[in-house]
Amino acid sequence: RVEWEVIKKAREEVPTIALDERSGEESEYEFPTLPDTVLAILYDGGKAAEEEPRLLGTVENSLGLADWLKAQGHEFIVRQSVDDYSILALTRLKAEVLITTPFHPGYLTRELVEKAKNLKLCITAGVGSDHIDLNAAVDHRIQVLEVSGSNVVSVAEHVVMSILLLVRNFVPAHEMIERGDWQVSDIARNAFDLEGKVVGTIGAGRIGYRVLQRLVPFDCKELLYYDYAPLPAAAAEAVKARRVEDLKTFVSQCDVVTVNCPLHEGTRGLVNAELLKHFKKGAWLVNTARGAICDKDAVAAALKSGQLSGYAGDVWNVQPAPKDHVWRTMKNPLGGGNGMVPHYSGTTLDAQARYANGARSILENYLTGKPQDPQNIIVGIGKYETKAYGQR
Ligand code: NAD
Repeated sequence: RVEWEVIKKAREEVPTIALDERSGEESEYEFPTLPDTVLAILYDGGKAAEEEPRLLGTVENSLGLADWLKAQGHEFIVRQSVDDYSILALTRLKAEVLITTPFHPGYLTRELVEKAKNLKLCITAGVGSDHIDLNAAVDHRIQVLEVSGSNVVSVAEHVVMSILLLVRNFVPAHEMIERGDWQVSDIARNAFDLEGKVVGTIGAGRIGYRVLQRLVPFDCKELLYYDYAPLPAAAAEAVKARRVEDLKTFVSQCDVVTVNCPLHEGTRGLVNAELLKHFKKGAWLVNTARGAICDKDAVAAALKSGQLSGYAGDVWNVQPAPKDHVWRTMKNPLGGGNGMVPHYSGTTLDAQARYANGARSILENYLTGKPQDPQNIIVGIGKYETKAYGQR
């Protein structure tokens, strides 16, 4: 009982204790390890989450895990950011499992990994675990699992939509209508068909390949891909995709480039000022993979100069993106070419049901000692279990 009283008191006194934590001074309390404590960092869904229970990725609906975990006697802590309390849960209350989503990520830095002495498992409810220092997880034998495949169709559909809205100059056309104007030539001067264009994907994994599949009926001139892992011959043949092994040569052949690889040491800043010079003048770029794969300022400059005709995506180098982030308002010389939205392509209600279920089965496997589905394991105990997060 004493222990629970200490914990209760700790909760009430989070700010004081968290300050202790930062200054590194010993707290007056010895914090006990709670049995199988699970910490989830989700996002505040507000009114929408109260009205729509299928918004499972929110604090309010907590991936549908709260009652289930509670019924089994586990401690479940839900926070909306890596705040003082969640740091406390990781460092002093010794949470064993951390659940995060990529949409409103809880960033798990090496510093935090080093302090989270009891952490054994990180679950990404979704796909893409770059918000976790994966090399630190390897070093500290913390496993990192994703719900692989859970939202890949959702993203692939968004990519195709984004390609179309850029190529067809949709956003300025819609804005014109809302303004009450009607000047067809202002829109048509920069609107094209996707048919006959060359489209290439950087990364031809689950999402990249699904994008290629969905583009087949558009009769593009050619579909290309750049990936250190070649597609199986039958898969490449099925979509008639040609692999280009040199990135500069690849981008120089594309009218549209779509980015579909994970963010890791080898892809951070991959699309930078130097690479953008090799793009076809006036190409369109769609990135729903991770914001930091594209250099923020280089992209804004390329759009402003017309080197790019358009940039669209839902991922940002920092999330939530600051109000003055240049990608919110950047435009091409004709005042269009911006298809940016908040990070939601992989979090449709359909996708949320899939990644909530997937997160639960990963957790269930962990808590009951069952083996995990190998395709979900990004970092196993002490090593990477996937080849997708860089060539090592
Ligand atoms: P995947 O593992 O199936 O495929 C990734 C592919 O990228 C692999 O084929 C890999 O070889 C390739 N790759 C890795 N490094 C590369 C490099 N340097 N150059 C070229 N190719 C490289 O993953 P996936 O399911 O297709 O997801 C890809 C990424 O999309 C995720 O890691 C995540 O960052 C992002 N994503 C975004 C959303 C969203 O909501 N916007 C949702 C899901 C996934």
